[in-house]
Amino acid sequence: VSRNPMNTIFLGPPGAGKGTQAQLIAEQFRLKHISTGDLLRKAMAEGTPLGKKAQKFVNEGSLVPDELVIDLIREVLPSNGTGFLLDGFPRTVEQAKALDEMLKTEKKKLQNVIYIELADDEATTRLLARKRSDDTAETVKNRLKVYHKQTQPVVDYYKNAKQLVKVDGSPSPDLVRKAIEKTFGGSDGHA
Ligand code: ADP
Repeated sequence: VSRNPMNTIFLGPPGAGKGTQAQLIAEQFRLKHISTGDLLRKAMAEGTPLGKKAQKFVNEGSLVPDELVIDLIREVLPSNGTGFLLDGFPRTVEQAKALDEMLKTEKKKLQNVIYIELADDEATTRLLARKRSDDTAETVKNRLKVYHKQTQPVVDYYKNAKQLVKVDGSPSPDLVRKAIEKTFGGSDGHA
């Protein structure tokens, strides 16, 4: 059994299919799926202190402050050899740098940084069809604006580090999954 670590990040605009792909790929490659959006929604539903602090940011479609999500990630990142798949983090260069620090401390590396690309008009159509409570026309517009302003620089950050692999997010989920799988070297992750 090769113990190839498969630490992975999915980047891309809201609506690109990060969550859908993350579930499929995490299961296939036995990775711990970490979605900051899911974790924040859970914290809000449970009314934890984090949930209470995050609520207004999530509701208006802006980013939750870096220190809150960085602490959250620090708590849930595997401390053993389990590979992880980050979905929705990092979303700012500040968060990317904090992740680099955490990985350095743990003597870990990123193996896959996958950028799922999707045009704004297509993203908007998908998000409005989804009907999550933060998927209103107004919020979606703001999330895309925030994405371009704050998360696009994260894409460039990993591009400059020569770690970025681009995948077209517009085809069917199955085709996108196959494209991602190919960038993983075609292995099933537990050979
Ligand atoms: P989407 O990708 O469709 O925007 P997510 O579930 O990833 O949905 O995120 C929902 C909301 O949670 C975001 O609009 C933001 O308010 C908050 N959020 C999620 N991840 C982060 C993060 N890494 N940093 C700051 N805020 C975040």
